[in-house]
Parts: sequence; structure tokens; C-alpha cells
Amino acid sequence: MATFDILVLPGDGIGPEVTAEGVRALEAIGQRFEHVFRFSEDHVGGAAIDAYGVPIRPETLEEAKRSDAVLWGAVGLPKYDNDPSAPVRPEQGLLQLRRDLNLWANLRPVRTEPALTHASTLKPEVIEGVDILVIRELTSGIYFGEPRERRMVDGRREAVNTMYYNEDEVARVAHLGFRAARQRRGKLTSVDKANVLQVSQLWREVVTEVAREYPDVELEHLIVDAATMHLIRRPRDFDVIIAGNLFGDILTDEASMLTGSLGMLPSASLTEPREDGTSLGMYEPIHGSAPDIAGKGIANPLAMVLSAALLLRHSCGLEEEAQALERAVARTIEDGLRTADLASGDERALSTREMADAVLERIGG
Ligand code: NAD
Repeated sequence: MATFDILVLPGDGIGPEVTAEGVRALEAIGQRFEHVFRFSEDHVGGAAIDAYGVPIRPETLEEAKRSDAVLWGAVGLPKYDNDPSAPVRPEQGLLQLRRDLNLWANLRPVRTEPALTHASTLKPEVIEGVDILVIRELTSGIYFGEPRERRMVDGRREAVNTMYYNEDEVARVAHLGFRAARQRRGKLTSVDKANVLQVSQLWREVVTEVAREYPDVELEHLIVDAATMHLIRRPRDFDVIIAGNLFGDILTDEASMLTGSLGMLPSASLTEPREDGTSLGMYEPIHGSAPDIAGKGIANPLAMVLSAALLLRHSCGLEEEAQALERAVARTIEDGLRTADLASGDERALSTREMADAVLERIGG
């Protein structure tokens, strides 16, 4: 029997509603497989600004570092979205956590469920069987490179950002990508802009060097503009994709739309792997706080439940348990159960709690 400490940060809007179901899913897995999950909880985002005056407290960041994993709901409230000059903002809490925990690898699995192919704007024959893992570098690149500033030169406004990578930053993403590909279908696509950018030429050079350690994995380099095209033309051909911060940001959103359902997609942000291959990580649905449906009990909890499955896999090293949870979600969908965002025609829409109950009934079943 193993024990894991999980910090739960529900946040704003539907964050608390879906996070409660992620916690229940972990508890159910704990019961079924005899593990103990110890949960502690705190405010982040708008809820933390209201309670403490800051979007995340230093104590919360310290607690996160001591935990095995962090389960994050969503942050953001209309009162902040409508006031771009607000001095403290809910999203700052998310960026601070990523930076403080050095969560440099963002993983987004994108899988189409056969029963939901109609939910995508793409033709079913194009997206059937899509199963992609996109890994985006999260703590470097143009989002952090220096100099980064706006300035006045000769009475004219200008602005500069710097795309920076060093070889260590590229190599660790490449290793993660190759290792993931090895456990999947053995193909890695590295995305860059090596025809124009020096930083991309270094990226490609380092990825090619790292590839020598993984002769069993097929490596493909794609220029980012071609990658965006191939992703919607032949998405089934992709297995694992690695990309820098900016290109990864754009590609992960594009890839998520292959499934067409925001309420289904989980993500993991990880730091350096430990000796045993697990990492401290932060797990969250890719959707936001959905203020339009908050408080109604109708949000789809599956992205959060699937985020909990990623937590089991990457921070606890519990692969069998992660798969049991993912299978339970797949069966729930196959059995025709739907929340309002997925229901079509005369399908009955379940509440958040009912949908999560349906998943829990199918764990180990
Ligand atoms: P959103 O993802 O919150 O919502 C977009 C649309 O999808 C809405 O119509 C919403 O009702 C629907 N939706 C989202 N999740 C759903 C779910 N689980 N079940 C059913 N329907 C769902 O994006 P938005 O409206 O652009 O942003 C709302 C707020 O969330 C903003 O303040 C934004 O800054 C924030 N946000 C936070 C995060 C985060 O915490 N990581 C990510 C994205 C957006």
C-alpha cells in the first residue's frame, strides 16, 4: 500500500465543481487498488484574491513543493477578464506555480473517442483513431527570453521578445518525447522553424543528437507551418509531438480541436523526473472556469477525471490504476452517457455528479 500527498487547488467558476469529482475518482481508485491519497486544499485565482489579496499564497507554493502532485481546477472570473488593468489577476497564480515548481514539460494527450467523432468539426474518417501526445516546453523560449520589453526609440514605439533555448532545455524535452514514443507507437515528430530561425536550428540539431540514444524510435522533423497543416490533414499519422513554448502553445490548441470537446481534454505539467521516472506535476483540464455554466452542476467532469488519471501515471507511477480510470471514462462514453456539452438531439444530459458516478461505477468493471 502506498501513500500520496495531493494538493487540491479548485480555483474559480466550475473549477470547484469538477475538482470535487477528480478527488472522488482518486479516492475510488485508492479503495479499489489499496492506496491512500491524503488531500489538502487551498484557494487560488480569483477565490484567493478575494480571500487573501493574492492569486496564490507563498504557503500554497511551499505546500505544492512538498506534495506528490497538484490537482488544479481552473481560474478566472469575469470581473477580472473585463478589467485588463486589474493589478492582481487570477492567472498570475497559475504562472507563478509553473515557474516556482519548474514545470517545464506540458503534456496534452489528444484521443478521439469513437462515440464522439461527430463532435469534431473535421470529418469522422479523418479523425477516427487519433491518439496523439503533444509535449510543449513550458518554461523557456520566447515567453521568457531576454530582452523582452516595450520601448521608445527616436520617438517611435517598438517592442522586442527573444526566442531563446539552450541545448539542455531542448535535450530534456527530446528525452521525454523519445521515452514517451517508446512506450507508445514508436514515432516522434519534432516541430521547429529551422528554415528561418537559428534557435530552431539548434533545436533540430540537439533533437537529432538525442535520437542516437533511441534507435528504435522513428524521428520526423516538421516545420511548424507544415505541422499545423498535417495535423488536420493526417492526424492519425502522429504519435508523440515535441515543440517549443510558442509553437507548442498553438499546436496544442489546434490538436485539442480534433476531438471537438473541451470538456474531455486533460493536461499534465511536469518537472524533472525522479530516479523512479515519476515527477512532481500539476494536473488540470485544458478548459477554463466557464463562468457561463458555473454553479449549475452541469459541467463535464471528464477532463478533470482524465487529469487525475495522468496524475496517477506521471506522479504516482501507477500505470495500471491510470488505465483503469481511463477505461472507465471510455466505457461511460461508449455506454451513451453524456453531459450537456456532449449530448445531441434527444439524449438526456447528466449532471456533473451523475456523470462522475457513472465513471466510478465502471472502475474495475
Ligand atoms: P472556458 O474553457 O472556460 O469556456 C469555453 C466554453 O466551453 C464555455 O461555453 C464553457 O461553458 C464551455 N466549457 C468549458 N469547460 C467545460 C466543461 N467542463 N463542461 C462543459 N462545458 C465547458 O474558456 P473561456 O470562457 O474563454 O474562459 C473563461 C475563464 O477561464 C477566463 O477567465 C479565462 O481566463 C479562464 N481560463 C483559465 C484556464 C486555467 O485555469 N488553466 C484556462 C483557460 C481559460
